Amino acid sequence: MDLQALFKISHGVYLTGAKDAQGRFIGSCIDSVMVVEADPQQVIVSMNNASYTMENVLKTGELTLSVLPNNTPNDTIELFGMNSSRDMDKWEPTEHILFHDLPVYKNAVAYMYLNVKETLLTNGHHVFLCDVIDGQPGTMVAPLLYADYQVRKASEAPQKHWKCSVCGYIYDGEIPFEDLPDDWVCPLCNQGKGVFVKE
Ligand code: FE
Repeated sequence: MDLQALFKISHGVYLTGAKDAQGRFIGSCIDSVMVVEADPQQVIVSMNNASYTMENVLKTGELTLSVLPNNTPNDTIELFGMNSSRDMDKWEPTEHILFHDLPVYKNAVAYMYLNVKETLLTNGHHVFLCDVIDGQPGTMVAPLLYADYQVRKASEAPQKHWKCSVCGYIYDGEIPFEDLPDDWVCPLCNQGKGVFVKE
């Protein structure tokens, strides 16, 4: 099939917040969240197997979810999406508040505290069915849609860039694309370097 069809399913952009075994605040940027039902309040959150945050959520069974507004700076999304909490504190330079003792994005459209109820392991992801223990609406701004973020990124990107032919992700990390390790994968769709095209 043409995978572009799959990526037309509309979805937003979110930050997760959690704690590791040392009590450090950690987090990631994800785009796969779905409301299952409103009574009882449950959502599904899908996280990449390589994610340090996923690893720790698996152990602690708790996380926060921040729904990002459409005015979220690209830098914030890239900070959470392109780095690992193994190596750096992403929350320290990011305006945040604590919600149930875990960080949430200060300007989030909404934020919630989740407890993992069940876990499904797929090829590349852990899919968490979560109870929404508590939640609050935040800033009165429209939520950021993933597709709009892609358009924004594309319009700001330099003339020549490496683009994922599967999901449209544009690589703009510090390391030249050619120098990335062979096992590097697209942070959004998990495909290898081979699907990237220069354009
Ligand atoms: Fe991709």
